[in-house]
Order: sequence, then C-alpha cells, then structure tokens
Amino acid sequence: HAKLQHRGDLVCFDSAMAQRSRNHAELLARLNAAFSDQQLFLVYQPQVNLDTRAVIGLEALLRWRREDGTMVPPDRFIPVAEQSGLIDTLGLWVFKTACLDMQRLIAAGLAPQLMAVNVSVAQFKSPTFVAQIEQTLLDTGLAAGRIELEITESVAALGLGVVEPILERLRRLGLSVAIDDFGTGYSSLAYIERLPLDRIKIDREFARQLQTGEEARIAALIAQLGSTLGLRVLAEGIEDAQVWRKLQNIGCHEGQGFHIARPMPFADLPAWLRQWNRRTP
Ligand code: C2E
Ligand code: MG
Ligand code: MG
Ligand code: MG
Repeated sequence: HAKLQHRGDLVCFDSAMAQRSRNHAELLARLNAAFSDQQLFLVYQPQVNLDTRAVIGLEALLRWRREDGTMVPPDRFIPVAEQSGLIDTLGLWVFKTACLDMQRLIAAGLAPQLMAVNVSVAQFKSPTFVAQIEQTLLDTGLAAGRIELEITESVAALGLGVVEPILERLRRLGLSVAIDDFGTGYSSLAYIERLPLDRIKIDREFARQLQTGEEARIAALIAQLGSTLGLRVLAEGIEDAQVWRKLQNIGCHEGQGFHIARPMPFADLPAWLRQWNRRTP
C-alpha cells in the first residue's frame, strides 16, 4: 500500500510540473486570441491631491474579460505576456489607447494633468522602446508632458548604466517617470537618488498597515525621502478616510484607492470627473 502511495506521489509531482507548463502555454494562446478578439480593455483609476482633492492624474490599468464574462487578473496574465514577447505589442497598445483616451478627455475639457501608464521591465529593455513611445505621441498628437510612465523596482534593478540613459531620453521627450510599488522590493537608495524620477508611489502594503493601525514608520520615511529628493509622493490603496488623513499627517499629499474611486471603464470617466469636480471647491 505504502509503495502504491509513493508512486502516486511521484505521478502527481510529475504531472503537476507538466500541468504548469501546459497551463502557461494555454494561457498565452488564449491571451493572444483575446488580444485579437478585443477582449482586452483599459480601466482608469483617478489620482488626487489629498489636500485640495483635485484630480491630478489617471492610471491606466489593463483588463481581460473572457467571452464567458470572467475576468483574468493582470497579475496573472501580464507575467505570461512578459515571458513571451507579447508584452511589447500589448504594452504599445496600452500606451496608444491611453494616449487616445487622454486626447478625448482633453477635447471634452475634463482631462487632469497626467495619464499614468505602467511599463513592464521587458518592454523597458526593448531597444525600440523609446522610439515607439515617441512615434506614438506623434501619431496621437498628445503632448509628452501629459504622460507619466510607471516603472517598478525590477526596472531599476537592471542597473544604473542601463536605466539612467533610457530615463534621460524619456525625460528629454518631456515624459515624467514614477517608481511604482515602492518600499517592498529591493531598490537601493542610491538608485532613487541617481535616477531622474518625478514621483514615488508608496506600495499599497503601507496603506494597509495604516488601516490596521500598525505603526507606519516606513511610510513616513518614504514620504520624507521623497521630499528630501524633491520627488512627489503618492500613496496607493487608500480604502478609507482615516488612511487618507494619516497619510497627510506623515507628509504624503497624493493618493489613489477604492475610497476615492475604483478603476473604471473610459465611458464612466466623464460623469465621475464632473461629479467629483462639482464637489471639490
Ligand atoms: P499597480 O500598477 O501597482 O496598480 C495598482 C493596483 O492596485 C491595481 O490592480 C488597482 O486596481 C489596485 N488598487 C487600486 N486601489 C486599490 C485599493 O484601494 N485597494 C486595493 N486592494 N487595491 C487597489 P490591478 O488593476 O489588478 O493591477 C495589478 C498590477 O498589474 C498593477 O499594479 C501593475 O503592476 C500590473 N498592470 C496592470 N495594468 C498593466 C499594464 O497595462 N501594463 C503593465 N506592464 N502592467 C500592468
Ligand atoms: Mg502602477
Ligand atoms: Mg503600484
Ligand atoms: Mg502593485
């Protein structure tokens, strides 16, 4: 009996590994199909100044709704796209769509200053990345000053020699750059000081700590770091009014989160912006 059990385990282990790579390949095939079937779309989450309540930006976030209506979370499919090269096509589509939507908001007189677009490390490494950004801005007619690219600590980890020149080129074009999910990864302080950045986004984990009443010493330290380096600091994941106030108290003056607004389809933005602006002096 024990022997059978053992063999069973081995079979399980083996097939679990095979299953994983099958799942990966299947997900990639479905993602490719989803892209051509237009099952991918963007939602936008407002970013506000916590003191004045003014909307300062919108973050574009990618969504995949399958034919049966179920959603595949980006944390699941973006890594798959990243490993396959599909991310270049996908990332460019995201960037272009966000630019076009921003143009529509500008035309309607509703656009905040910035549209923030996430960029994955694989895109960033592509030798044509900056040229594609530049071309897309020309194609859509959007001013570079209306775009902020969000990079992660894994981009910073490519090394200063790689990252700095790319950021300098983006800067010269007029784009701003934020470092996303800051504080939980492994970026060194030297990077943050050396890289030409505009904004630090404090990881959602710290808003969660504030919410549960844990001491938020690291969040306060990040806010101080930002102000010392002349960077703007925005907190992610604000889920209630108390966290909003606590963030202001530790010197963080920008934020986004479900308490302000959930990410929404483009069609819902005009009404949301009008209503928010009406209530904000
Ligand atoms: P992120 O860039 O850090 O985006 C913030 C995530 O936090 C979003 O998750 C957003 O929906 C969620 N969020 C916002 N406010 C709250 C809140 O108050 N509470 C909670 N619990 N969550 C909140 P989402 O949309 O699932 O995206 C997850 C991640 O996937 C993003 O994290 C980003 O790293 C990646 N991602 C999304 N769209 C793109 C894209 O177009 N390109 C790339 N490269 N990555 C993307
Ligand atoms: Mg982001
Ligand atoms: Mg983030
Ligand atoms: Mg995140």
